[in-house]
Amino acid sequence: MATTLPDTDIIEAKPAATKPTGTKPATTKYVYFFGGGKADGNGKMKDVLGGKGAGLAEMTNAGLPVPPGFTIQTEACREYMRLNAVSRDVDRQMEESLAKLESLQGQKLGKGENPLLVSVRSGAKFSMPGMMDTILNLGLNDQSVEALAKRSSNPRFAYDSYRRLIQMFGNVVLDIEKSVFDEIFNAKKRQKKTKFDTGLDAKALQEVIAEYKKAVKKHAKRDFPQEPQEQLVMARDAVFRSWQNDRAKTYRRINNIDDMLGTAVNVQAMVFGNLGDTSGTGVGFTRNPATGAKEFYGEFLLNAQGEDVVSGVRTPVPIVELEKIMPDVYNQLRDITTRLEKHYKDMQDFEFTIQDRKLYMLQTRNGKRTGLAAVRVAIEMVDEGLITKEEAIFRLDPNQVVDFYVARLDETDVRPADILTSKGLPASPGAVVGQIVFTADEAVEKAGHGAEKNLVILVRAETTPEDIHGMEVAVGILTSQGGMTSHAAVVTRGMGKSCVAGAGEIAVDERAEEMRARGQVFKAGDWITIDGSTGRVLRGKRNLLPPDPENLAKLEHFMSWAEPFRTLGVRANADIPRDAKKAREFGAEGIGLCRTEHMFFAQDRIPHMRAMILANNEKDRRAALKKLLPMQRDDFKGLFEAMEGLPVTIRLLDPPLHEFLPKREQLMVDIASLPSASPKQKKDLVKEYKEYGAKSAGDLKKILSALLARVEELHEFNPMLGLRGCRLGIAYPEITEMQARAIFEAVVAVDKQGIKTHAEVMIPLISTVKEMANQGAIVRRVAEEVFKEKGRHVHYLVGTMIELPRACLVAGEIAKEAEFFSFGTNDLTQTTFGFSRDDVNKVLTTYLSEGILKQDPFAAIDQEGVGELVRIGIERGRKTRPKLEVGICGEHGGEPSSVEFCHRVKMDYVSCSPFRVLTARLAAAQAAASEKLQIDAGRTK
Ligand code: PEP
Ligand code: MG
Repeated sequence: MATTLPDTDIIEAKPAATKPTGTKPATTKYVYFFGGGKADGNGKMKDVLGGKGAGLAEMTNAGLPVPPGFTIQTEACREYMRLNAVSRDVDRQMEESLAKLESLQGQKLGKGENPLLVSVRSGAKFSMPGMMDTILNLGLNDQSVEALAKRSSNPRFAYDSYRRLIQMFGNVVLDIEKSVFDEIFNAKKRQKKTKFDTGLDAKALQEVIAEYKKAVKKHAKRDFPQEPQEQLVMARDAVFRSWQNDRAKTYRRINNIDDMLGTAVNVQAMVFGNLGDTSGTGVGFTRNPATGAKEFYGEFLLNAQGEDVVSGVRTPVPIVELEKIMPDVYNQLRDITTRLEKHYKDMQDFEFTIQDRKLYMLQTRNGKRTGLAAVRVAIEMVDEGLITKEEAIFRLDPNQVVDFYVARLDETDVRPADILTSKGLPASPGAVVGQIVFTADEAVEKAGHGAEKNLVILVRAETTPEDIHGMEVAVGILTSQGGMTSHAAVVTRGMGKSCVAGAGEIAVDERAEEMRARGQVFKAGDWITIDGSTGRVLRGKRNLLPPDPENLAKLEHFMSWAEPFRTLGVRANADIPRDAKKAREFGAEGIGLCRTEHMFFAQDRIPHMRAMILANNEKDRRAALKKLLPMQRDDFKGLFEAMEGLPVTIRLLDPPLHEFLPKREQLMVDIASLPSASPKQKKDLVKEYKEYGAKSAGDLKKILSALLARVEELHEFNPMLGLRGCRLGIAYPEITEMQARAIFEAVVAVDKQGIKTHAEVMIPLISTVKEMANQGAIVRRVAEEVFKEKGRHVHYLVGTMIELPRACLVAGEIAKEAEFFSFGTNDLTQTTFGFSRDDVNKVLTTYLSEGILKQDPFAAIDQEGVGELVRIGIERGRKTRPKLEVGICGEHGGEPSSVEFCHRVKMDYVSCSPFRVLTARLAAAQAAASEKLQIDAGRTK
């Protein structure tokens, strides 16, 4: 078979293929035909035809062996979403295309001696593996199945195809639970004493069909439709509806795909991989999607259809085996896929079917890959002259940078007795430790949201798209079935999450909530370690080690292409010298936020901090602060030394004071139980309240009552909106004085050592210019005092965090007093939405599933609302002070879409946690490069 795919660019999209939504004249082209070496569409029309449809059109135009068919474009899906039905034009054009297909094939849909059967598949612009629905063998009914049996001389094949249709149609179109069919099928296997589907003969399958039809009647209250045209219309609409199913919505949310895009529907003549041992079906990649190595990579199954390979029902065979079984087909497949990769200039993920030794291509698309693979493929494709360096820099999703930093198993902690299996598939790299959960819902429940996440590993026989919400929160996935292209493998790779798949030596009983391995039984909550880089599963919590330096070197090389484009600075949020050093290793250009309260929580400081809070007069307070001063000074010295002249932004004390004291309720309980406490209990209480001056049981009553009185005094109903931030420094100016003194004494000491400093003192939670003026004056006065005492003057800045909506609105005023702004988007999000940042998860889960919010606004900046305030703040601030330095230090500073936003609104820098510095650097570089090169930063999705 000649493959004539040109090695040139894809032909231009045909103009005026669609009209914008709204004004839609009768001439809208809804249906695009492909077949006979020619297609109405082409590879560039992903918006219209979806990724699959565009790929099929492109391959057809290139003369590749693609079964003919037609694509109903995405506009029809959008219409269906709006009106719950498609227009008459869609039906009419579909009928015309079906007639064309029938005449090309010399067959009629579900009719005659040689009936035409079709597949009906979804296909959106961005690939959403397994999230939407597919129906195969459509056109079969009680008559055509007999014709197929006769024609193929293979009744078993015909009945197997029919039972699959009823099963898929029943589930997808008629909404009958999959388990209804599974139970019938499994019962039949048990009855016939066979483990595999292939063990059921034609007669047994006929019996299955009869029972399936009964089940349809019972559950759907109608017969399985015998009319092929009716089947087609119903299947098409069901695929459109599947765009809106829960798992598809969740997938779009996680991957930031627009809900309004809709899916196309591909109707294509069936080819059969289940015609016997000269037929088969498979999937593959032109390069290894886990490592990026240039090797032909994939899996197939003989005598199998569609989903069998990826569903994990049977464990597939490596594609190299095909070379032994059918060398011609193997070589043709290699040839075609190599050409496809050259043509698309990217690693391809393809699907094929072999019908009686004849190869058909069913799909090609840019393959999903790990971060490690993305970088290796990009670098090697530049070396091969396939893409330019400018194109290469968009080939890594900034979020995938973490793949380079995933942990490895510490081999010295791997004892043979702990290994439950070493034969799992290394589906997605990284070693993780976590507690077993057996269902996705349990994963969500146990893992929780936010920073305080519990580590859970989702253990399943195999995952399905319905598990997506559990996979999202788990740290790793372990499956006992399925291959390297199984659902679990593909999805976790995309998520950059550790996965061991197909660990056959582990038996998972999801119903009994049990995992058995090497004669041991594991229950939910037990700890295990999985290593997605090698495929091992171990019991207990094993030690993990940091990542491989060789891969890091590759990443550095890749970054050297991206970095020159970057204009946005990247700083790190770091409170201690160790984190500051780590941040510099990742390329941070300063510290954008040092939260000084973290320094007070240290063991040796908290007693002084508490003494300071408990003091009820200024003198006592100053005495306690004096003890804290040298400690703070040393902290700051360490930071300035580590940063060697790079900016260090130090935020003055922010949290409410009661955070440093015992809980009010606990104190009440302790006071109430004191009279009846045993000597041992009293001893424990003395120990607990030692830091507050308790030396013996006799002190307890007085100390606890005094403590409670102070805690009550400080008690606030809304501490997040209470005495915190600059309000604290205004109420107790001696705190600001102490911190300013510690900063400037450190500055002078480091300067004296010959190390440059660049201190930026930041006042938190400002909402009026007078607050800023008040605190700024203290800082500047203390600076002058210290400089005078020490005989040395060093440059510094005083600025503010902008984290309240009012501050954004009066930014012009505030900028009169502040030399820099740093947007505290955590608090700004909290106060703009009125969501408590610590409790939001209770609301968020519902809001996300209801589609009220598309993303967690505490993770990705809400550009419409919070972002608008940021824009206003920058504009007004710079109007007053054109050179005003502007950054961001909320959690958003390390999230790619937020970084891109910060670039657009012309901030000077973003600041994020040290481990996200590289992600931010790449995101910032891509934002600048896409602007400069006028490239739509359309990375592989
Ligand atoms: C913020 O509010 O965005 C911020 C960085 O401060 P914190 O998280 O410490 O409140
Ligand atoms: Mg804040």
